[in-house]
Amino acid sequence: MAQPLARDVAEEIAKLHGVCIRPVALRRLDMTTGKSEVVDVPCGSPLESKCPPCAKRNRQLRMAQCREGWHLDEEPIITPDEATDGQRCLVEFRADMQAKRDTEEKASGDTSDLDAVLTGLDIEINEAGMRGNVLGRTASKRVRSTKRRQDAPDLPKRKMDSTTLGRTFEAADGRTYRPSLFVTLTLPSYGKVMNGAPVDPDMYDYVRAARDALHFSKLVDRFVQNLRRVAGYDVQYFATVEPQKRLAPHLHMAVRGTLPRAEMKQIAAATYHQVWWPQADEARFEGDRLPIWNDGYVDPDTGEVLPTWDEALDQLGDEPMHVIRFGDQVDVKGVLAGSPDADQCIRYLSKYLTKSLGETLDGQAQREHAARFVDALRYEPCSPTCPNWLRYGVQPKNAKPGMVPGCCRSKAHKPEHLGYAGRRVLVSRKWSNKTLAEHKQDRRTWVLEALGQADEPTDPHRYVWQPVRPGDPEVAPIGVRLLRSIAERQRWRAHLRRLEELSATPQAA
Ligand SMILES: [Zn+2]
Ligand SMILES: [Zn+2]
Repeated sequence: MAQPLARDVAEEIAKLHGVCIRPVALRRLDMTTGKSEVVDVPCGSPLESKCPPCAKRNRQLRMAQCREGWHLDEEPIITPDEATDGQRCLVEFRADMQAKRDTEEKASGDTSDLDAVLTGLDIEINEAGMRGNVLGRTASKRVRSTKRRQDAPDLPKRKMDSTTLGRTFEAADGRTYRPSLFVTLTLPSYGKVMNGAPVDPDMYDYVRAARDALHFSKLVDRFVQNLRRVAGYDVQYFATVEPQKRLAPHLHMAVRGTLPRAEMKQIAAATYHQVWWPQADEARFEGDRLPIWNDGYVDPDTGEVLPTWDEALDQLGDEPMHVIRFGDQVDVKGVLAGSPDADQCIRYLSKYLTKSLGETLDGQAQREHAARFVDALRYEPCSPTCPNWLRYGVQPKNAKPGMVPGCCRSKAHKPEHLGYAGRRVLVSRKWSNKTLAEHKQDRRTWVLEALGQADEPTDPHRYVWQPVRPGDPEVAPIGVRLLRSIAERQRWRAHLRRLEELSATPQAA
């Protein structure tokens, strides 16, 4: 009985000291000395909210990253290029989208929308006077009817400039001002809410709320695409997806450079995303009557083979399964570099980063609201591979035996995520000169310098890391490991404090 208690106490102390409470034990083999030992590395789970200290540390890193890039006055990456500025921008944007697509594919997600974006961009690249295809792609792409192409909305389009920097303004006193934007985008209303819960739950459109949450990240992609077209420069952003009180995701975005407020609102209003999936409104199979596996899923009564994912896509009608747009509530705020306002926005941007979307519940009404939201998500297909497609008479992509509708294990259906399983921090490629890993390295260098130690780069081949087998006698109980980390942290803190005191004392005496 004593042990779990001791562990709880160790955890509390660890949190107070900012030490990871879910460390991962790894065996580290030093190739130089031949020494092998078990070491703890921080879990680093920034958003799973399993480890508050790591989440907090991550939030601080993100704030540093946001601050660093927002008001840059020099281009972060300078690449000489013979293509025109506009052409370069297009190709770079295409590269971003390609990377996105590849990541999606690796996660066996739905790439069809990104494929459509790529097709559109390839056409634009050719129209901009470049021949051929950037990738010389050979893999076959799903060809869609023009009706189903995601068209660019009717928006003003400026000539593309290759800069990522916003305009500056000279004031009468000779000072230069570098204004940027802080934008908040919100989803539409699904019914009247009060204190984060629907006034009338029966009138609240949970299905739409669920679908909007599932496809929110696609809408954000479209917004950025449209923003760049209208702005006429390579707009950079640092954005976070956070839960609103009514549990819908919304977006805070620090944008480098400025655009007229009315134009931002116009872009938000014109941005939409169409989901070209089979229908998921009428259940064909439910309860005990579910498709059975027979080298592919078949109707349990007739034995008729259900259409595969690709076949279902080929049979789509002219109506998308879902169209997602932003709501009317678009907030655009001008922010000046280095102002207290900018700092406040950065704190605001990262306010909920340590919390999962479904973790901010407050009161009975809101908990019931969350439960209904999760119910609505239960049978909503989250991706082409979602087992829920069986309910609507379609074989999921990559169908395999054992799939049961309502039992999808993907993050999107979970109460912590409430439909949004994407990344919570979205940073454009040329935001700052640094990646998050480099920001981490900055902090490390700072501490080591304060300690008067050289921060020599470690030879990447020096260590070989291996997972630790369960029950490895070298892994101490978690309580002991936490206490060790706390002691280590305290030693460093004390050392830093001593150094500070030394530098504060006059040396001349
Ligand atoms: Zn941790
Ligand atoms: Zn699913």
